Amino acid sequence: MRVLKFGGTSVGSVANINQVIKIVSQEAKNDRICVVVSAVGGVTDMLMQCGLQAAKKEDYNPVFKELEAKHLQFVSELVPNDTEAVEETQGLLNDLNSLLNGIYLINELSPKTVDKLLAYGEILSSSIIARAMYAQGLDAARKDSRDLITTNDKHTKAGVNYKVTNSQLDYYFAKAKQQITVLPGFIASSATGETTTLGRGGSDFTAAIVAAALDVDQVEIYTDVSGMYTANPKLVKQAKPIESISYHEAMELSHFGAKVLYPPTIVPVMSKNIPIRIKNTMAPEDAGTLIHNKEGISDNPIKGLSNINNIALLTLEGGGMVGIPGISKRLFETLSNQGINIILITQASSEHSICLGVMEEDAGKAKNAIDEEFQYEISLNKIDPLSLEIGLSIIALVGDQMKSHQGISGKMFSTLGKNNVNIRAIAQGASEKNISAVIAQKDVKKALNSLHERFFEAQRKQLNLFITGVGNVGEKLLNQINQQQEYLKKHLNINMRVLGLSNSRKMLIDENGIDLDNWKALLEAGEPANLDGFHEAVVNQNQRNSIFVDITANADVADMYGKYLKQSVAVVACNKIAASSEFSKYSELKRLSKAYNAPLLFETNVGAGLPIIDTLNNLIASGDRVNRIQAVLSGSLNFVFNNFKSGESFHDVVQAAKAEGYTEPDPRIDLSGVDVARKILILARESGLKINLEDIANEPFLTEKNLNSTDVPHFFETLKEDAAHFEKLVANAEAKNHRLKYVAQLDNGKASVGLQSVPEGHPFYDLKGSDNIVLFFTDRYPEQPMQIKGAGAGGDVTASGLFADIIRTATY
Ligand code: ADP
Ligand code: ASP
Ligand code: MG
Repeated sequence: MRVLKFGGTSVGSVANINQVIKIVSQEAKNDRICVVVSAVGGVTDMLMQCGLQAAKKEDYNPVFKELEAKHLQFVSELVPNDTEAVEETQGLLNDLNSLLNGIYLINELSPKTVDKLLAYGEILSSSIIARAMYAQGLDAARKDSRDLITTNDKHTKAGVNYKVTNSQLDYYFAKAKQQITVLPGFIASSATGETTTLGRGGSDFTAAIVAAALDVDQVEIYTDVSGMYTANPKLVKQAKPIESISYHEAMELSHFGAKVLYPPTIVPVMSKNIPIRIKNTMAPEDAGTLIHNKEGISDNPIKGLSNINNIALLTLEGGGMVGIPGISKRLFETLSNQGINIILITQASSEHSICLGVMEEDAGKAKNAIDEEFQYEISLNKIDPLSLEIGLSIIALVGDQMKSHQGISGKMFSTLGKNNVNIRAIAQGASEKNISAVIAQKDVKKALNSLHERFFEAQRKQLNLFITGVGNVGEKLLNQINQQQEYLKKHLNINMRVLGLSNSRKMLIDENGIDLDNWKALLEAGEPANLDGFHEAVVNQNQRNSIFVDITANADVADMYGKYLKQSVAVVACNKIAASSEFSKYSELKRLSKAYNAPLLFETNVGAGLPIIDTLNNLIASGDRVNRIQAVLSGSLNFVFNNFKSGESFHDVVQAAKAEGYTEPDPRIDLSGVDVARKILILARESGLKINLEDIANEPFLTEKNLNSTDVPHFFETLKEDAAHFEKLVANAEAKNHRLKYVAQLDNGKASVGLQSVPEGHPFYDLKGSDNIVLFFTDRYPEQPMQIKGAGAGGDVTASGLFADIIRTATY
């Protein structure tokens, strides 16, 4: 004898029922089969809705009609031309309609009536399915479970009388002749013959009750997924079926919300050591999950994650509670008298407060009852009125072997913390089979995914990028990401996705990742851009490891960083404005980055893709001390001075630099040294100095006339007028066999920028094109400085610098 249970989706359409019949006919070749069926998917909810509407004297007909049509259509397609089947089904539907009418008339829906009403779902489905099997030539007959399973009269969640039930089942199956018996799940009857139900999701339980009574070898629960997964597959895409799991682990997971198995199901089979196999009706060849008495042997002490939504947290608190025995007893008794189920309990060791998690629907009732129970203590101010918080969820980490592993809760809470998931309460079962935490319901998806990544995808980390600014550098970055995605997965175990893009006109968000082969067209078709709207979208996405990437030169964008960091969204910026703004702003951003565990990286602010800031940070972190920095940090000024020879026109060289895009549209920004000053400012700050732009000495090489020019054309005029000044600068240098370089320095806490003439042999002397160079003189590199040299501008190298910062966030 085998017991096979098919859930709501498995019998949710004609095609699915045919698939069920196919599986059963195959299995019935070798064995007698008991098939337990649920109501057609969604029908139990529809019945409840009709009942609630009827009790409120609302029109329940639209829903009833839908339900009626669905069943009649199943009959006509599964057992065509069978008038008996139509009559039976129509008869049941008429009875159902009369019951609803009765509820409507008396305006009341008691638990007893709820059971009568909901039972129709399984009664209808089992009758149609048994007939369909018979019509397809199987030796199948239906039996009403209410004749076999006897319970107490706790309606809507009745307790089974195993003694009576087991003998009834034994007796019936000993005599039954048919190869296949179809039983409605979920329903039973009380000793007085009233219809009862086993609780929502209870068809699984029916199968287990039958299996235990008949002592079968295995129960098979067929559903719409290929087993019990490491987390709810509807919320965590990366979740995988668990191959083998112990009864206790499965019970914990289902108790904490893994709906795939109704928690009481395990009880009857566990005592008889009968394994449960969870299988997928649509993919019966998949192995599914085996639930049995062995603790799973695996490297991972965590078996799965689960969650329960719609939780309320009740906190009883007050100075008068300390040391007084009996408070908890009264509290629990009060809730138990109200029939309220407690899902989670925590008590601080100071006994100053007790925190309980219950379902939100019970919260109001719980508060009234508890405030009444402690009325006297509340009136004396010994205990505060019960505090009640809603909108919460419980997430739980489950595994038998957690007890022999240290540091799991630490990992759990640090992962949640890093992702800005606030934990309201924590509980750990004394058996250490589960650790649970109460969090805001809006954070559940992010919490489950980040925990799943941490515990099950050990090495694979997902990075979710939101990029603003898709000009030259942005486009290069997107190309690099697109090209490297597979490499990152394979070699660094990083899954890098771009979820948001924005330029000054348009923005685009896609939670599944933007197609990088087609981003331009997609962005063009996006919504109008707006900085706050983009921020809001990032926050609403609430994705783990989110990174905001700023590839603009815009002050308003830089002003948004604080907002992102406060949401634990990392910031990677090529934009220099934030890091070179007033010190107070810079240090506030650094503080937020630390406080919210969100990296703030801006390597490309200095020397484009060269690893300058990262190297500086590493030197300091390793205990070295930076005594002096000397650097050439301006590609534009390099270009100008590499091309300016004695006898030539400085004006023409600057004009050529501008024409070739080596300078800002207003070349004075480069030539005045402001841009270089910002860069040395950033390096000075990163080496620990509290300084501002005004503190940087800037000896201009331009003339008063150049600096006072009214606009760009006028500036070029003045370059011509003051040609002699520039000729003198270059001629003096050449006379000594020197070359002119625009140098930034940090020496003894003093920063400066200015034009210098450097001798042959100096590391700056041979600098080519737009190359940058930085020399770090440190305690460990006193005479021969550490040198970093290479292209200091250009789309590709800047993009690769951003890329490196993005990867750095993954190891933060
Ligand atoms: P049935 O109608 O077959 O009884 P249920 O809807 O009761 O099916 O249970 C199956 C559903 O349980 C899955 O579709 C999935 O959405 C949900 N679920 C939640 N947690 C898990 C989990 N850990 N593993 C598998 N499914 C889960
Ligand atoms: N039909 C019932 C419900 O939806 C029982 C079940 O499907 O297991 O709760
Ligand atoms: Mg179910």
